[in-house]
Amino acid sequence: RLEIRNLTRHFDGRAVVDDVSLSIQPGQVTCLLGPSGCGKSTTLRMIAGVEMQDSGQIWVDGTLVCDTVFRVPAERRRIGLMFQDFALFPHLTVADNVAFGLTGSAAENRARVETMLDRVNLRRFIDAWPHELSGGEQQRVALARALAPDPRIMLMDEPFSGLDNRLRDEIRDTTLAILKETGTAVLLVTHEPEEAMRMADDIALMRQGRIVQQGAPYNIYNAPRDKEAVAFFSDIN
Ligand code: ATP
Ligand code: MG
Repeated sequence: RLEIRNLTRHFDGRAVVDDVSLSIQPGQVTCLLGPSGCGKSTTLRMIAGVEMQDSGQIWVDGTLVCDTVFRVPAERRRIGLMFQDFALFPHLTVADNVAFGLTGSAAENRARVETMLDRVNLRRFIDAWPHELSGGEQQRVALARALAPDPRIMLMDEPFSGLDNRLRDEIRDTTLAILKETGTAVLLVTHEPEEAMRMADDIALMRQGRIVQQGAPYNIYNAPRDKEAVAFFSDIN
């Protein structure tokens, strides 16, 4: 479970993330949905621990991982990351990519890599190189890599936007199924209402650094809070 309270971050005197609070349950996908520049990625980077907030707290499974004076390093937060520009390492094999965040012995890591590749149905590519895989297969390896250290929280920043339409639907469905199976709490960032409607259990609508509406996808879709929200949803039907 992920809990963030009153998270705020300024750049050049402007509140880019402004008093954001969210709670995300295991096995649930929460979508942070909003237009370009509203502060989605900055929010995710603070949760991941690669950006520092000005104020507010972050809790993982009831443990405080960050406030303004105390800070658990990124690699010890049990948070997995899947970003569009966080691709596979081209100079490492599939096995070494998946093993990248693991801290066990070589034998333990190999066993874990095999388990994870089975889970995404790509065991046959264990000794292949990233360039020998299709875009969709690479994305599944990236999912295996993110899940290998058994994170409690998965942060995803537009991870599907580099894929063509048909592939994207397929990868979304597999990714979602695997994440649900593992009971990970997921925070998915997107600027596409259609993606949020398809994937989310809960949508947090963000605008100019603030969460302006939150609820189940169909509640938000059927009762947008204002004209701007209506306009934002109007390109899906
Ligand atoms: P997109 O959908 O385009 O990815 P976003 O919602 O992820 O947008 P952010 O990347 O969080 O938006 O950026 C929010 C605002 O903060 C933008 O106006 C951006 O220019 C600004 N910003 C982000 N990082 C910095 C930085 N390091 N220095 C100054 N301004 C920044
Ligand atoms: Mg972004």
